[in-house]
Amino acid sequence: MTSAGRFAPSPSGELHIGNLRTAILAWLFAKSSGRSFLLRVEDLDRARSGAEAEQLRDLQAVGVSWDADVVRQTERAPLYDAAIQKLVSDGRTYECFCTRKEIQEAPSAPHAPQGAYPGTCRRLSAAEREIRRASRPASIRLMSEVTEWAVEDQLHGTFVGMVDDFVLRRNDGVTAYNLAVVVDDAAQGIDQVVRGDDLLPSTPRQAYLATLLGLSVPEYAHVPLVVNHDGVRLAKRDGAVTLDDLAAVGIPAARVRDLMLESLGLPGGSLQDALAEFDPARLPEEPWVWITPQA
Ligand SMILES: [Zn+2]
Repeated sequence: MTSAGRFAPSPSGELHIGNLRTAILAWLFAKSSGRSFLLRVEDLDRARSGAEAEQLRDLQAVGVSWDADVVRQTERAPLYDAAIQKLVSDGRTYECFCTRKEIQEAPSAPHAPQGAYPGTCRRLSAAEREIRRASRPASIRLMSEVTEWAVEDQLHGTFVGMVDDFVLRRNDGVTAYNLAVVVDDAAQGIDQVVRGDDLLPSTPRQAYLATLLGLSVPEYAHVPLVVNHDGVRLAKRDGAVTLDDLAAVGIPAARVRDLMLESLGLPGGSLQDALAEFDPARLPEEPWVWITPQA
């Protein structure tokens, strides 16, 4: 099995500076540790026609390259089905018929962390399940045997986070992100996951799930985000934040790449030049505040 890092965007629109900077970091982490670098398109949900091509173009424009064909989640249903089937056979799942509203209004279990699924459908009898199946398709939830799980993160150290009975397959039949990401990383030989630190809270669920599936848990590095001047995670509404937007105001991709590298304390010019200077221990720990530069 290869040893690889990855970037895994959702093709819901153009990548913005925050996404591109995380991609550059993932590439630097992978290459500096002798790994190959893979690209996976997470298109199970909210895919917008044409967005994938734009994203691949923009990644290349800032110097991010990948070492194998792009993988798309919509082409991998049999892998997800097999993993869910294994968990079902192992007795580690149950059907859930709750609506979003029911979950919000359910009394939470004692000592349950904020936002945890309250476990309503865990306690349904076979007869009750039969009745509910007639009115609403079920989602499949993991029957978790833990309430928290620890992961090691290269930048955050030991992180302990909530594990609840999270959804593996939604009731519209779509494989849930947490299941797909675990299955894909293992199947692609990805043993290093570098992504935005907004995803750190869901990492214990994924590491626990990998363990249940007999898969190895990758190394993690959750990197600081790019934020707007209010300190809020950068979004499309924050003005010129995509390569297209920036080109339109006279700032070419090469300059954007160099600004991103400078924000990481690295020299501009090319990702190869930056790689020679890259040291994860010297990365800034704070988010980068993006202010659209003057052309
Ligand atoms: Zn339920």
